[in-house]
Amino acid sequence: MTDQQTSLKPLHPTLYQLAQNGTSLDFFFAQCPACGAVNFPANAPGCSHCGDPLTEATRLTRPGQGELLEFVTIHVPLMPGMNAPAIAGDIRIAEGIVEEGVIAVPDESGLRTGMTLKAVADVREALGVYACVFVPMEEGAAA
Ligand SMILES: [Zn+2]
Repeated sequence: MTDQQTSLKPLHPTLYQLAQNGTSLDFFFAQCPACGAVNFPANAPGCSHCGDPLTEATRLTRPGQGELLEFVTIHVPLMPGMNAPAIAGDIRIAEGIVEEGVIAVPDESGLRTGMTLKAVADVREALGVYACVFVPMEEGAAA
């Protein structure tokens, strides 16, 4: 299983990579040289905080996780390959950065706003890739 996962490629290689534990994802950010804020994705055309072109930006790799701001169950697939029903949420992955993500839980009962979610690999073996989905961080687990 581990060997197989390492041969898989990220669906969006500019956004994330498999973390060393083989299941969670690390996100790529660009740290602005002018104001110090982080931007996502790392290849953003400019700093969303101050407008710096980010040509001298520092690339940061951080565990993909964030605060769940809101969520909704979607009953119709929004894109090819998406299962329905699915739960989509707005997740604050860094200060000032909110991304929409799919939350891989059976239903909304285990979710609450303000909880911490982490990004994990959603392996699609037929395509040889892994995508990004979010799951609740285990209670008491270190980030
Ligand atoms: Zn900036």
